[in-house]
Amino acid sequence: MRNLPLRMQDRIFHDLILPQETQEMREKAREFAVREIAPLGHEIANKEESKESFPSDIFYKLAEGDFYKIPFPKEVGGLGLKYPVCATVVTVEELAYISDSIAAVYDVHCILAGHALMYGSDFIKQKYLRPMTTAEKIGCFATTEPIASTDLSLRALKTMATKKGDKYVVNGHKRFITNSCVADFVTALVNTDGKLSMLVIDLNSKGCRVGEPDKKMGNKGQLTADIYFDSVEVPAENLILEEGRGLHIALGTLTYGRVGIGASGVGMAQSAFDESIEYMKKREAFARKIAQFQYWQFRIAERAIQIENARNLYSKAALRMDQGVEFPEPEAAGAKYYGTECAGDMARDAVQIFGGYGFMKLLEHDQSTYKVEEIYRDCKVPEIYEGTNEIQKLIIARELFGKEFTA
Ligand SMILES: Cc1cc2nc3c(=O)[nH]c(=O)nc-3n(C[C@H](O)[C@H](O)[C@H](O)COP(=O)(O)OP(=O)(O)OC[C@H]3O[C@@H](n4cnc5c(N)ncnc54)[C@H](O)[C@@H]3O)c2cc1C
Repeated sequence: MRNLPLRMQDRIFHDLILPQETQEMREKAREFAVREIAPLGHEIANKEESKESFPSDIFYKLAEGDFYKIPFPKEVGGLGLKYPVCATVVTVEELAYISDSIAAVYDVHCILAGHALMYGSDFIKQKYLRPMTTAEKIGCFATTEPIASTDLSLRALKTMATKKGDKYVVNGHKRFITNSCVADFVTALVNTDGKLSMLVIDLNSKGCRVGEPDKKMGNKGQLTADIYFDSVEVPAENLILEEGRGLHIALGTLTYGRVGIGASGVGMAQSAFDESIEYMKKREAFARKIAQFQYWQFRIAERAIQIENARNLYSKAALRMDQGVEFPEPEAAGAKYYGTECAGDMARDAVQIFGGYGFMKLLEHDQSTYKVEEIYRDCKVPEIYEGTNEIQKLIIARELFGKEFTA
């Protein structure tokens, strides 16, 4: 990488998997993240959530850098890359290395909301997707409800959309919806008279209300909130595909999302790893550097291999998606589960390596801050969202045993 700080992965591993086009995109994303996000990273990770705390400067700078165009074909305003999925997920990794909040904002805007729209009509793509690629519109994606998320069955999902003439009338309530506080529209999973369907709903419609942002453990720059629908009228042309195809669209979109979340785990793990290596070479105990203790040498060697394996897994899932495979299992589920678990394992070790300093948001004595503390908080939620890791293991088990054993 030209003029950029070398990371451990570049020194010891060799990317023989991803295409040149993707490696160039990685370099561009890394350069952006180091220049634009790193100076604000600590603030983003620690600021209490409010509608004003959305990292809008960075959001719009990502648009200036054409990052929201990466996943899409030219017909809808995208870059028209040969390997768009690979480029998108390495971008997520590079953003997450610096700030998982920003990686999540990016992931939801273009992978979740954007990819769901890719199933839509030309009208939907031109009205909602094209302006998303330049950030003229912000999108969000909603399947979760107060009592439905892992279980997205008709029985559990309570948001109803009743057809009346050329409109749907929507009543219901979505929960934890990322970017909803600032979004223009939501792609929402709804129940249309006994069928799961996906509608695009303008958030400034009469009867639609977005709550205040939730206060969370980590990923504080990723704002989530409830969305309430009270007799909201939605034009029938805002239906994506047909009635009854909503779950397919949601699962296809979440499968792509999971490859991205796996990549975000790799970004956080690599960041915690690199912080740890630097610290271990400087910090002393018993007149030796921490890096001289074989216990930690072995532990860090294990993590180096784990992180590279996680990167290889998400890369393989992305390559399969770029070959046109909609559900690249078991790679996608494996990438999500293994990449996010890897981030949790590495973050826990990193805080331990830093000792008491790893527990500090701010050391009063010299005002120093510790990125590993931030990663420790941020790495938990990727094990939960876009399908919990238990569900990823269920998907892998289904590949192994078939539905007759795992339904
Ligand atoms: C910060 C954040 C951002 C989010 N952003 C969005 C968003 O933008 N859009 C959106 O729609 N949702 C979003 N979500 C919701 C997220 O996807 C859900 O929280 C997640 O899918 C889990 O659902 P749940 O919280 O209802 O847990 P539950 O479904 O209640 O699950 C609870 C526990 O039970 C386990 N479990 C359930 N079923 C099984 C089973 N069959 N076998 C074994 N274990 C099982 C789960 O793995 C989990 O550990 C977000 C959540 C958070 C925290």
